Amino acid sequence: MKRLFMLILLPLVLSAAKVDYLRWDSGMTYLGFLGKHDLPSKTLWNLDYDDQTLTEEIYSGVGYQILRDENQTIEQVLIPITDELQLHIYKDNSSYTFEAIPVLYSSERLSFTTKIQSNPSSAIYNATHSKRAMSAFISGFRKSINFSLHVQKDDPIVMIYDQKYRFGKPFSMPRLQLAKIQLHGKWHGVYLGADERYYDAKGHEVEGFLLGNPVRGARISSGFTRKRWHPVLHKYRAHLGIDYAARRGTPIRAAGAGKIIELRRSRSYGNLTKVRHADGYTTLYAHQQKFRAGMRRGKRVKKGEVIGYVGTTGISTGPHLHFGLYKHNRAINPRSVIQVTTKKLKGKKKKQFQDIVKRYNEETEMILAENRQVDRFINFDAVCYVKHDQFEEQGECNATVRK
Ligand SMILES: [Zn+2]
Repeated sequence: MKRLFMLILLPLVLSAAKVDYLRWDSGMTYLGFLGKHDLPSKTLWNLDYDDQTLTEEIYSGVGYQILRDENQTIEQVLIPITDELQLHIYKDNSSYTFEAIPVLYSSERLSFTTKIQSNPSSAIYNATHSKRAMSAFISGFRKSINFSLHVQKDDPIVMIYDQKYRFGKPFSMPRLQLAKIQLHGKWHGVYLGADERYYDAKGHEVEGFLLGNPVRGARISSGFTRKRWHPVLHKYRAHLGIDYAARRGTPIRAAGAGKIIELRRSRSYGNLTKVRHADGYTTLYAHQQKFRAGMRRGKRVKKGEVIGYVGTTGISTGPHLHFGLYKHNRAINPRSVIQVTTKKLKGKKKKQFQDIVKRYNEETEMILAENRQVDRFINFDAVCYVKHDQFEEQGECNATVRK
């Protein structure tokens, strides 16, 4: 019962409890964070391999919360590392415990139509007040349509997307389901397929950001897991990347063109390189035996260029490359953008996709007929909560907020 009580972040019957909303400083490590706040470092040393790896996923600029009691003692810390998973450090009697727990959010499907006045970006922004919705639409057509050449006034746009909300506010990139635009009287569409990739109405993959394979011919020894309840360990596990098993010394190639933004040794990931690409994507290459000579921060690399060699540095059970992909700092499944040979749907998959297209085209007719708009004043009551497997508790965010 006591533990249960501790896990509830914020109904805050504790009258003088305070919540600090903070941003993670650039360059701050998890260990540095513990030291800065006088939290015991065994909150790191006691963790198993997977949990230690998760502490390396904290990214600079992420908004996190510290709850303190009336004596300023830290009761709880919540640090999101993906859209769905957060690190939770909480006081358990006199010591502190660490766990990874789900981020509780709601998701809403939004759809609207609008007409272009000057360009698609401003039309979508005016309709949604969301720069992220705007950017999701534009990147969907980046490779297929040159808007500046073809757009005319009053060309219609239709968009269907899912938006996540947390604490009553939209967060994370909207997930585009359908984007349509009519140019010179002809509709062009981008549809999300069942395999999480985007296609045009005919089932041809829409080239967006595509990655090459970072280790040629290697076997995938562990896939991407966003968040999974482990029934034996009784905790949430996540593997925020793909592991490629390969012999020590096998070349590691940059999955796309970009610029090296980190090249260092980390506790769990060993020798790691991070490369920043276009459109807010970053890739991570961990556990390297060594970096290729000449690699350094700020250097530009080409797609397929060798940047290092497979090893087992950091916390690792054998030679492999841990490959991570991030969009706006949040880990996403690399499989959704790794280049595949067949870029056209066939057979059963094509049939399945045609059903999706049909459904969305019918939906488009309805959106147009209703002249549907996004209710931009959706008002979610601010609710604060922590979710756990056995219970769910929520309360009002009535704690004092310090800036
Ligand atoms: Zn891994």
